[in-house]
Amino acid sequence: MRQLTYDGVPIPGLNDLVRTAIRLHPAPGLPRPDESHFGGPLLWPSDEPWPECPATWPPDPDASDDAWPGGHPLDEPVPAMVGAAQFFRDDFPELPFPEGTDVLQILFCPLEHDNPYHRGPAVRLVWRDSGEVGDIAEPPPAPEDAEAAYLPEPCVFEPCSIDELPRLCDFPPETRAALGVPEGASEDPEGWPELDHYAKIGGWTAWHAAERVDLGCRECGAELRQTLALATEEHEVGCGCGVDEEEPAGWAFGDRGVLNIFTCPTDPRHPFKVRIA
Ligand SMILES: [Zn+2]
Ligand SMILES: [Zn+2]
Ligand SMILES: [Zn+2]
Repeated sequence: MRQLTYDGVPIPGLNDLVRTAIRLHPAPGLPRPDESHFGGPLLWPSDEPWPECPATWPPDPDASDDAWPGGHPLDEPVPAMVGAAQFFRDDFPELPFPEGTDVLQILFCPLEHDNPYHRGPAVRLVWRDSGEVGDIAEPPPAPEDAEAAYLPEPCVFEPCSIDELPRLCDFPPETRAALGVPEGASEDPEGWPELDHYAKIGGWTAWHAAERVDLGCRECGAELRQTLALATEEHEVGCGCGVDEEEPAGWAFGDRGVLNIFTCPTDPRHPFKVRIA
């Protein structure tokens, strides 16, 4: 790749900042349980209990994600989760898959939860070996008081790849210095490329409403990495593909923002974090 410039000046380290994201381009469809999708049926074995919300009170020490400041009282029924997304390794080898697994399933508790950083659905990530699934479970109905914004319409993907540069808050100190960014500045340099909103795998976080805080792994201390972005809106950007529908999944996070899932580069099964930005 040619040396990237900013304002006509080649900046050392700029090329290393480029991350290629897989833009998912969700589109309304009728996915099967053995396909990658948003909001479709999960390949979930009928002999495995359907998962419940991990945000309980008192807290479940094994539940991934941040320490919840509250949750569903354990002396009442804990809500069943709903399938939010499913990704097969054959379709998206860019995602992390622990050894022996080939499908990643994302579930939401479709109610409002107070995370230390935002309000939104509670999230579970489940990796499994699709070859071990025999009969497929019939999911329980969504909780009666579910938020419609957290119940996605079924979508299939028409992915493409797109190169991204980070927001200023994700710059390493050397790049900030090379760009002459003043200490403590929080605005992107003038003319810096926008990081738009769209569903994607990898790439950089479109920080906006949320602060970039506390992304260290609770287990090993490594810096968690942007892994999946679920966007309220699909923005038209220069990836060369058309966008037929701006909100194909019909879900909405925060102030029309993006629900970002961060995983540990050491081991994706370390506790992940969610930030709605
Ligand atoms: Zn919940
Ligand atoms: Zn870790
Ligand atoms: Zn595209």
